[in-house]
Amino acid sequence: MSHPIPLVPFEERAHKALADERLQQALKVATTKFIVHRQEALSLLPDADGLRQRGRAIRERTIAHLDECLIQLESAVQANGGHVHWAQDEVEACRIIVGLLQERQARLVVKSKSMATEEIGLNHALQAAAIEAVETDLGEWIVQLAGETPSHIVAPAVHKTKEQVAELFEKQVGRPVGTDIPALTKIARAQLREKFLAADAAISGVNFAIAETGTLVLVTNEGNGRLASSLPRTHIAVMGLEKVIPTWDDLPALLTLLTRSATGQIITSYVTCVTGPRRPGEADGPEELHLVILDNGRTRILENEYRESLYCIRCGACANACPVYLKIGGHAYGGVYSGPIGAVLTPLLQGMEHFGALPHASSLCGACKDACPVRIDLPRMLLALRAQEVEDKRPPVWERLLFRLYAWGTSHPVIYRLGARLGGLLAWPFARNGWMGRLPVPIVSRWTTKRDFPAPAARPFHARWAEIEREAVPPPSKDESR
Ligand code: SF4
Repeated sequence: MSHPIPLVPFEERAHKALADERLQQALKVATTKFIVHRQEALSLLPDADGLRQRGRAIRERTIAHLDECLIQLESAVQANGGHVHWAQDEVEACRIIVGLLQERQARLVVKSKSMATEEIGLNHALQAAAIEAVETDLGEWIVQLAGETPSHIVAPAVHKTKEQVAELFEKQVGRPVGTDIPALTKIARAQLREKFLAADAAISGVNFAIAETGTLVLVTNEGNGRLASSLPRTHIAVMGLEKVIPTWDDLPALLTLLTRSATGQIITSYVTCVTGPRRPGEADGPEELHLVILDNGRTRILENEYRESLYCIRCGACANACPVYLKIGGHAYGGVYSGPIGAVLTPLLQGMEHFGALPHASSLCGACKDACPVRIDLPRMLLALRAQEVEDKRPPVWERLLFRLYAWGTSHPVIYRLGARLGGLLAWPFARNGWMGRLPVPIVSRWTTKRDFPAPAARPFHARWAEIEREAVPPPSKDESR
């Protein structure tokens, strides 16, 4: 079962989030920290813009040669002693993973953070197969204890205050725990360490997969990726097929951009590179390594105008910069991916019919594009999705008539001038300081339930321009006037 389709419409979810004071408080604290740290970390780079250009060029090149990169990756992983599985969709991916675990009679699985496994609804599939799955990323563990889903790409529990986390931990350990963050972290560490030692298998995501060597790169702050990939006997890594990069030389630029854009760190605490299972003589590592490469709609995106969304390195910087995300948080988006990239990816992966409202959750201010380390043009894609939604929905007759009338009027100068003067006159009683707080005509008044409408100017631009031109003409000289 994939990530569930929300039953409540987006508008309602957003209103609920706006009214949640604790959420507003948690979002403000966490995202302000991310924004400041990101700016500081990028300012320390000698040529941040150059690095971002290089990052984008790598992603462009990779996606342009995705088929070759993936085939090379498959061969390299196999040559290292690993196994590669291709999953067309979430059903196939879950079937492969559950099958691998059942064959090995696994009962307990530790999971290192993976948005791809959220996307395929893996935890539900594991539960249905009576396999216990424990999230080991601190934020993921918090949301698992709360019975929720992640609300941010890199900080899954960003919506929780420390008081809420303490409540969850109290329930888990059966005693008061207080709100001291290091003490809370110690509790998580003690609980999760036991699970690592007892686990039959581990499931992780993949931040980057290097095609030339078959190396899987896991980036974590808690070291859970390293424990997951070295302690249990079986390691299953799940990646969206766009996570491949061609060579080792491409890694430093992307890693530098990822960590600085995500959390503002110069480098993440643990960067784990897994090249095959344990070899003879090695002290640790899994006996078996399986890589599940997930399509789930990505090859469809590859062929259309949203291809650029596959350049994403999942840093979450666009969400931290987005004024809409900062007010409503990730759960209001209803899908796995939130923020501006979620507003593009979720409708593409899970269908416009369920998530067609998301591209409208943007002021189109462009802050997401500015923040994106690989300069993905999110506003362009949000607009294209809006256009697609309008086309798919076919607007009501009155709307089509209105726009036809408008098009006709604006292409006939006399009608346009008359309309502009008439508009200014009619709007005058309702306008205050150049804005109308409410449109008086019922059919269009919904526009002003959430925003003001710019009032037509009392004197239209073309009339003022004509006047300026008249004034600018120098008076005829005496010679000319003779
Ligand atoms: S779209 Fe850009 S900013 Fe947003 S998560 Fe992806 S890489 Fe980061």
